Amino acid sequence: MAGVRTSVTHVTNEQVDQLAERVTGPALRPGDEGYPGEAEGFNLAFRHRPALIVGAANASDVQQAVRFAGDHGLPVAVVATGHGPAVVADGAVMITAWRMTDMMVDPVRQVARVEAGVRWRRAVDRAATVGLAPLCGSSPTVGVVGYTLGGGLSVTMGRAHGWASDQVRSLDVVTADGELRHVSAESDPDLLWALRGGKSNFGVVTAMEFGLFPVTRLYAGGLFYSGEHTAAVLRAYQELTTRAPDELTSSVALLRMPERPAVPEFMRGRLIVNLRFSYLGSEAEGAELVAPLRAAAPVIHCPRLEARKATASAMSRGSPKRPSGTLPASAARGAPIASAMVCMTSVPPGVSTGPGVTTLTRIPAGASAFARPLLYVASAALAAA
Ligand SMILES: Cc1cc2nc3c(=O)[nH]c(=O)nc-3n(C[C@H](O)[C@H](O)[C@H](O)COP(=O)(O)OP(=O)(O)OC[C@H]3O[C@@H](n4cnc5c(N)ncnc54)[C@H](O)[C@@H]3O)c2cc1C
Repeated sequence: MAGVRTSVTHVTNEQVDQLAERVTGPALRPGDEGYPGEAEGFNLAFRHRPALIVGAANASDVQQAVRFAGDHGLPVAVVATGHGPAVVADGAVMITAWRMTDMMVDPVRQVARVEAGVRWRRAVDRAATVGLAPLCGSSPTVGVVGYTLGGGLSVTMGRAHGWASDQVRSLDVVTADGELRHVSAESDPDLLWALRGGKSNFGVVTAMEFGLFPVTRLYAGGLFYSGEHTAAVLRAYQELTTRAPDELTSSVALLRMPERPAVPEFMRGRLIVNLRFSYLGSEAEGAELVAPLRAAAPVIHCPRLEARKATASAMSRGSPKRPSGTLPASAARGAPIASAMVCMTSVPPGVSTGPGVTTLTRIPAGASAFARPLLYVASAALAAA
């Protein structure tokens, strides 16, 4: 985080105890009970070893943590969910934001305001109750703020409406001097510009207000093919994407699945091609757009999108931890991937999937009907029976 001094001073237990008295959430040192769990994020490929963790319960806790770091010359790291540990927080004051979960949706202004710990699952579900939708990403467990500060490319409406960060109306942010600022285009246009894409480089965001769209239906889903058909599938995909309307957002994932019992049998130990679609239009138009991809190669699997309740309950009872996946460059060799987005992912341990029987499905109108499939499109392979 910019502006924090770098000359490190020794931090005594007494000083940490004093900090602990000033914050509502916990202040944890290595060796404290709760430290390992608090330091661990979603992505188990990274292990954070911060000098101190402040489990922020509110904006004041964030201010105290940032000031403490400044006083002691320690860097600051912020983690909401630990999905994207671009910077490992070793030796830092790590601020965890997942306790900050206040949220409101204003249906008249068509905006939502979320605190730093809110994840997409809640934001989408809440917005959908009033017929609105955000530019969310593929995972319901990713943090709204972290996603948006990185730009935020929506798997459902990204091509129609652009980057999520462009929908930010205002941010509450603790800057390196420990001040809490309400940042908007009117008050601090430069800081707002820098934060939208700047991740945590310019401060710790405690809350964010952003625009929503009046969307209640979309035609969306995923098609799964065996890896040996990669070239054929990507050729068809390339053709589709050269003429696709903006209302169609799509992506391709090449999934190198590990040999694990938790991985569904049809994909265990194999390379799988997963095409994901989301169309803001009629079922008939969506089906027509997707038809060449259905015909490109045998479709081996697609979880029932109608089975969203099972999917949601599976996500909530399944382990949220997953090791990062790997995708050797050779996986796509020889395939025309010019217009394809290649993703890396893997199945979390403990999540199983039943045999898929349908492919693309019209999403009925209604809140949960919109929200849950929307969120699970790209992780459809993880759907439980
Ligand atoms: C399964 C999965 C699917 C994804 N799908 C998409 C997608 O469809 N589209 C897309 O654009 N991205 C996607 N991403 C990427 C995701 O948006 C980034 O990994 C994002 O940074 C995660 O944010 P987080 O807060 O959940 O994670 P964290 O690891 O907690 O945070 C990541 C980084 O965000 C910053 N940050 C988080 N909170 C704050 C805060 N309050 N103040 C300041 N900085 C903060 C920090 O720099 C932090 O290091 C996906 C990631 C995963 C794991």
